[in-house]
Amino acid sequence: MTDGKIEETFKDKYITCKECSDEFVFSAGEQRFFKEKGLTDALRCKSCIRIRKLNIR
Ligand SMILES: [Zn+2]
Repeated sequence: MTDGKIEETFKDKYITCKECSDEFVFSAGEQRFFKEKGLTDALRCKSCIRIRKLNIR
């Protein structure tokens, strides 16, 4: 019996930012993190995410 963990292999992938159309790396580690949190893939680059966070109160 397994402990419910699914071993998945993630590879770095390039995503075009929804906000600024810049290409950024969505790293394997980040993909794993997002998956664990049940989030969808990143749509925005780090700087846009940061800007959004600053704007959200
Ligand atoms: Zn961006």
